[in-house]
Amino acid sequence: MSIGLDIGGTKIAGARFAKGGIEEARAEHPTPDNYQSFLQTCRIVADELGAGPQIGVAMRGVFNRETGLVEKDSVLPYLSDVSLREDLEKVLGRKIILENDANCAALAEAIDGAGAGYKTCLGVIAGTGLGSGFVVNGEVLIGANSFCGEIGHIPLPYYEDSDGDKVPCGCGQVGCLEKLVAGPALARLYKKMVGRNCGTHQMAEDAARGDADALRVLDRYYTVFAKAMVVALHSFDPEVIIVSGGLSGLPGLYEEVPKRWGRYAMAKQPKTKFVPARYGPKAGLRGAALLVTHL
Ligand SMILES: [Zn+2]
Repeated sequence: MSIGLDIGGTKIAGARFAKGGIEEARAEHPTPDNYQSFLQTCRIVADELGAGPQIGVAMRGVFNRETGLVEKDSVLPYLSDVSLREDLEKVLGRKIILENDANCAALAEAIDGAGAGYKTCLGVIAGTGLGSGFVVNGEVLIGANSFCGEIGHIPLPYYEDSDGDKVPCGCGQVGCLEKLVAGPALARLYKKMVGRNCGTHQMAEDAARGDADALRVLDRYYTVFAKAMVVALHSFDPEVIIVSGGLSGLPGLYEEVPKRWGRYAMAKQPKTKFVPARYGPKAGLRGAALLVTHL
């Protein structure tokens, strides 16, 4: 049995998994607006699930792996500069294993999700941001600075004006992949090409029923996505790239991106598989629990 917690901007979710990865129980509470209530809510979720002595916790953003100190959290500002791991351990009375949520999701997919059977997996979360985690032989690759897999903050290669406008990124740079590939970027591209606003959800629906504007924008967008994936191909060369997040259901994504990445990659027909996630939004929670049983 293992317990995972996933700290989101709107809810704190927890789940208990039995041996074999079957989800046995789940608990969810809204994310509070202050740090003390936040810690208490995490404790309530853990208690409701009957957590044992160790809990894996998935969270967004940048934290110091050695100290458990959160460096900056723009969605939950009260988490900035706090010793999250230490405080959670105190309030919950359990050992806490913290991990980036994209890494947790990648781990879950690699172990028994869409990446099962592959030695090298890149899990990409394409939603309001662009996160990713790299898993080799069932282990998350962390790196010397915990930056491994942060492809969202590499500039888009082979850039053309028609790829969309380069806008400032939260990391301090301009032209990051995240700002040309994530959901808000797709909405900006639509506005630029069509001249009116359309959300990504609506765009997906429009494209599915053959709307010419939506199809034209997605046609351009899949080329941008393919360029972004070449960054992953040339740096990690994974056997499989697994996509989750709000954009993972765009019609045609899994056919169109591999058709285009050969234009930019060193191999004209890369062998890498490009597939949707098995666990989707549940992967972070599952991966958090795997931190306990798998590390
Ligand atoms: Zn950036």
